[in-house]
Amino acid sequence: MSATKPVITRFAPSPTGYLHIGGARTALFNWLFARHHGGTFLLRIEDTDRARSTPEATEAIYAGLRWLGLDWDGDAVSQFARIARHAEVARDMLARGTAYKCFATQGEIEAAREAARAAKQPPLFHSPWRDADPADHPDLPFVVRLKAPKTGETVVNDHVQGSITWKNETLDDLILLRSDGVPTYMHAVVVDDHDMGVTHVIRGDDHLTNAARQSLIYQAAGWDVPEFAHVPLIHGEDGKKLSKRHGALGVEEYRDMGYLPAAMRNYLIRLGWSHGDDEFFSTAQAIEWFNLDSLGKSPARFDFKKLENLSGQHIRSSDNTDLAREVLAFVASQNLPPLSEKQETQLFETMDQLKERAKTLPEVLEMARYFLKERPLDMDQRAQELLDTVSRGMLNRLTSRLQHVSWSADNLEIEIRAFAEDEGQKLGKVAQPLRAALCGRGVSPSVFDMMVTLGRDETIARILDVAPTG
Ligand code: GLU
Repeated sequence: MSATKPVITRFAPSPTGYLHIGGARTALFNWLFARHHGGTFLLRIEDTDRARSTPEATEAIYAGLRWLGLDWDGDAVSQFARIARHAEVARDMLARGTAYKCFATQGEIEAAREAARAAKQPPLFHSPWRDADPADHPDLPFVVRLKAPKTGETVVNDHVQGSITWKNETLDDLILLRSDGVPTYMHAVVVDDHDMGVTHVIRGDDHLTNAARQSLIYQAAGWDVPEFAHVPLIHGEDGKKLSKRHGALGVEEYRDMGYLPAAMRNYLIRLGWSHGDDEFFSTAQAIEWFNLDSLGKSPARFDFKKLENLSGQHIRSSDNTDLAREVLAFVASQNLPPLSEKQETQLFETMDQLKERAKTLPEVLEMARYFLKERPLDMDQRAQELLDTVSRGMLNRLTSRLQHVSWSADNLEIEIRAFAEDEGQKLGKVAQPLRAALCGRGVSPSVFDMMVTLGRDETIARILDVAPTG
């Protein structure tokens, strides 16, 4: 490949009903590589399995990619729609003599394999039709097979795995077209990647052997082989292959848990790729830095703690307006009660306090609960404990001091500190039950900030709800 050829990558999922986290990472790497090089990122839906390839399953892939912010160039390609083209290429290969018609029946193939096994040979099928004269072809159903080289070696120079060699005698004559004219998966992928102009195939290392077989198909078609990067699959925290139990979920489940797409991208990039010791970075930085050489050779382990941690950092570094919009989108996507106009304004205005400690969007909402919930508030256990008789008495006495103070965070702090001193108490002894009265929880933004947002009347009303006079 010449150095100046523009980069074209692709993501080629089979629609399974959701965008799996491993697929999302593959898509992300291909997207980053294309964007880094100012190239093209294509999407191909491998929808030849008609039973599974429903419009809903395809839509789930689109939705997952869109949520992650991975925009693809042009329209998605349907593999199924290209069946005639796959057959055409197989016929060209027949004409070039790099493929042949094989009339062997299933029974004959089984018997040949059995015989090979009995003779302690590898159970590869050597078709008697490989070198048959077309004049001797019967008028029977046939498959089209690749005329793979029998000697020599096939080498895949992989950007991650290095140079891997297969002895050609271990690779059999693959079927390209079945007897009903339907292409095999292996053949369809090669034809599609070639026609789409794909220069770099970045995918899971479960496809590594396919790369050798596909290289032979490229050669038989007379085409250049693309560059390959086979990335180790993601493992669970225990080092075992990722399963549901470990977090092998669809990306929409992470959306529903309230992770930001930017955090998810950052986290997924680090699952198998590194840039020195950098853990927290923006997508713009990732695009600038991404290369195939820094893909790791050993499987990355999924780590929820790390995801949470990164997520918190992304929430804190988000622009307040963008973050408020994300929160509103989350509320809508989860069918939570919509915010009133006033609450929306409060959300935008208080984002600095809300995001300080939150690791997910539900945690931002939890911080906002003090203005999202109406009186009388429900009190959790911690809040109830804080509101003992002594505290209630104190809070009741506080209300008269709040009637005339000028209502700003600074003034409120001065006033409440003075009140605590008059009561012979530390500030916390007043602030903690006050927090409970204002939001019904033991954890919240600062009491002074909450009081400013709630206003004088609502603040005093909430205090009197838990600390009535008399
Ligand atoms: N459709 C294949 C899969 O879902 C990917 C094929 C490829 O990337 O070459 O695993």
